[in-house]
Amino acid sequence: MGLLTMDLTTAMAWMADYAELIAAHAAELTELDRQIGDADHGSNLDRGMQAVVALDASSFDSAADYLKKAGMTLVSTVGGAAGPLYGTFLLRFASALGETNDAPATARAWRAGLEGLVARGKAGVGDKTVVDALAPAVEAMEAHTGDVRSCLEAGLAAARAGRDATVPMVARRGRASYLGERSAGHQDPGATSITLLVESALAVLP
Ligand code: ADP
Ligand code: MG
Repeated sequence: MGLLTMDLTTAMAWMADYAELIAAHAAELTELDRQIGDADHGSNLDRGMQAVVALDASSFDSAADYLKKAGMTLVSTVGGAAGPLYGTFLLRFASALGETNDAPATARAWRAGLEGLVARGKAGVGDKTVVDALAPAVEAMEAHTGDVRSCLEAGLAAARAGRDATVPMVARRGRASYLGERSAGHQDPGATSITLLVESALAVLP
């Protein structure tokens, strides 16, 4: 019997670490969203992640159980595009958690989360969204052949490069797309915050 892909303690540590990172970066995320959106991305995610960390730990018996509830909490507490998108990511990630604890299982869970997010938001690579950091991160995880830590390290490096590559892009999805060409020259807020989610996953590895 293998270990679970992610145990409950690790899942809770992941969400707690992400909530801290989002709180620490809330002003920066909101400033990025001020430039090409409506200046609420940091406060949106901060509110959602505070609600996630306030969930009663004793009412869950598995990581999948907990992450599903975390996803539903984001959908219901975060106004704006990010709530349903990040919530769906977590719901689908949770559903894909399996019986093995290795890099391919990790990549599968991230792939499932990405697919859920794309099914909901319909953005492709190059549209200047979350997907521009998350899709290359998942591809790097899948291409990886080492342990879970180096898998997530490869994912994080790809997410950061994808996030940085959003700067010159013209937005084709979400609120930033209303700006047309004027959205170029700014880093996408969602690509920035999803990169922090990969960073947290790496930080809490046992
Ligand atoms: P809102 O735009 O409703 O104010 P947020 O400010 O919380 O929501 O989130 C904005 C971020 O959401 C953008 O930076 C972008 O990365 C992401 N986003 C918006 N629409 C989509 C979409 N259809 N698919 C993927 N990501 C999207
Ligand atoms: Mg916004």
